[in-house]
Amino acid sequence: MKIKDFKTHKITRSTPPYQSDYARYKPFLKIDFCGRCAYCNLKDITITTPFEVDHFIPRASFKDGRMDLDTDYRNLIYSCKKCNNAKRKQFSGDIHSAHPTNELFYDPVAVDYNDIYYRNHLGAIDSDDEKGKRTITRLKLYRPIHILSWLCEEMYETAERLEKAVKTEEDEIRKQTLESALNMLNAQYRKFNHLFIAAYNDNGFSIAAIEDMD
Ligand SMILES: [Zn+2]
Repeated sequence: MKIKDFKTHKITRSTPPYQSDYARYKPFLKIDFCGRCAYCNLKDITITTPFEVDHFIPRASFKDGRMDLDTDYRNLIYSCKKCNNAKRKQFSGDIHSAHPTNELFYDPVAVDYNDIYYRNHLGAIDSDDEKGKRTITRLKLYRPIHILSWLCEEMYETAERLEKAVKTEEDEIRKQTLESALNMLNAQYRKFNHLFIAAYNDNGFSIAAIEDMD
C-alpha cells in the first residue's frame, strides 16, 4: 500500500564540459541529481560515506569496444555506495547500438521513478511494476537501511515543521506542549539517525548504545 511518493525532486541532465576522468563529473552529477542517490533517494549530506559515480552501463560491459561510455555523461549516475555496490556488473543490452542502455534497470533520468516506486505502509521502497520489483532485489533496496534513512528524513522534516509552529504559537500552554513534542521527536531522531549511520557504514551497533543516549 502506497503511503508516499518515492521522491519529491526532479532529476535533470545538464551538459558539463568534457572530463577525461569520469570521477570529475561528480560535482555536476550532485547538482543534476539534487544531491540524492538516483536509486534509493538517500540524501548525500545525511551520510559520512562519500557518494560515488555509477556507470549505468557498467564498465565491465563496455571495456572491449565502447570506452567512450566511460566518460559519456549520459551514462553516469549519482549513486550512494550501497546502491553502486549492489548494482556492480549487472547488465543486459546491446552496447553497440546507437543509444545503448542497461535493460535490467530503469534509467533514472529517462524514467520518473515516482511512476515505478513508492514508499509503502512500512516505509519501505516498493513497486507494483514487475521490472521495478526485480530492481528492488537487484539493488537490495529491501534492506532496513533504506527504511531507516527514510524514517530519519521524515522525522527531521516533522521536527522542522514543529519548530516553526513553536515559534509562531502565541498561546503559552500550547507552546509548551509543542515544545515538549519537539524535544521528544528530536531525541528519537538522534537515536534513529545514529542507528542509521552505524548500519549504513557497517560499523555495527548495539541497542545498549542507543539506550545510553537517553
Ligand atoms: Zn542508494
